[in-house]
Amino acid sequence: MGKLGNPPGLEPGERWFESSLSDYLNFIKGISNNMSKYRYRIIYMETIMEMRTCKYCSEDHPLETYDVAVRKEGKILYRRWRCTKCQTASKRARKHKLREWFDELKKTFECKSCGEDKFYMLDLHHRDPKEKEISLGDAVRRGWSKDRMMKEIKKCDVLCSNHHRELHYENKITG
Ligand SMILES: [Zn+2]
Ligand SMILES: [Zn+2]
Repeated sequence: MGKLGNPPGLEPGERWFESSLSDYLNFIKGISNNMSKYRYRIIYMETIMEMRTCKYCSEDHPLETYDVAVRKEGKILYRRWRCTKCQTASKRARKHKLREWFDELKKTFECKSCGEDKFYMLDLHHRDPKEKEISLGDAVRRGWSKDRMMKEIKKCDVLCSNHHRELHYENKITG
């Protein structure tokens, strides 16, 4: 854990004038790379920020930008060792893998009504709407675990998009 007060981009000993934490986050996330604007801000940062070295990219970032993982009675007990930038990248990679896994799984399915087996044509239809937590598409977007996905999939029938639509239309008519 480093204790230096300099964000990346400044020479050791250079003074940092801070505007706000969100500006700084934009800088480290690469949204803004105009570091000079940070050197001429009027608010002088009086306290030196405690820094932490990310275990994944080895960059130093202010400790308070790391996600809190454990909190007890308002007190922070544990912060992650992965910086927000690496955290975002790893979440994205995880969801991408999950999407690939789900597509591979769908390749083993077929429509219950007509046998259509092109994976991109297939939907998962919840047999009992009351049991439905969320759609499987949303589960992928939220990065659910495979176990949790499987539990949700078991509540579903596989239908092609045509038969899925037809079923919902019939359900609407018959109530
Ligand atoms: Zn990192
Ligand atoms: Zn079908």
